[in-house]
Amino acid sequence: MPRRSKKSPYQKAVAELDKQWSIYVRYSAADRNGETRCWTCGRADHARNLHCGHFASRRYMATRWSQENTRPQCPKCNLYGQGEQYIFGTKLNHEREGLADDVMRRARSGGTKHEIELLRARAGLLAVRNQRLVEAVDARYVRAHTKDHPTVAAIKTHRARKKG
Ligand SMILES: [Zn+2]
Repeated sequence: MPRRSKKSPYQKAVAELDKQWSIYVRYSAADRNGETRCWTCGRADHARNLHCGHFASRRYMATRWSQENTRPQCPKCNLYGQGEQYIFGTKLNHEREGLADDVMRRARSGGTKHEIELLRARAGLLAVRNQRLVEAVDARYVRAHTKDHPTVAAIKTHRARKKG
């Protein structure tokens, strides 16, 4: 018999907030070209291709969805570089002196569980906000990148020839 993963309602609520929080962190960092930079190596890409990286591990529930603890990261830094935690923290400290220590202290001193209703409510609010955010970033990305797009360029050349 195939085993089905049995997530508890709490685990489901955590997963849903993880998903919405990740979208929020990645898309809210996008620039005017709709691109987001990896916090630790600086590589730019569309937000959909990045991850939501954590400085203090996700196992610390107190800072799992904290603005100060999460930044967009490329898959390479997030997965293969073990989160590049040293660079991550150094850059946090550049942003605000002592921030890395603050985040770590908060991560370790916080509770381990959240109210399930609060998790659900937070995920629901973010989902509404994210929808607009994603649309806006996608629109910026398309606008910034279509001028170099080979198909678009070919159409323009074709039109110019017809005119001339
Ligand atoms: Zn990176």
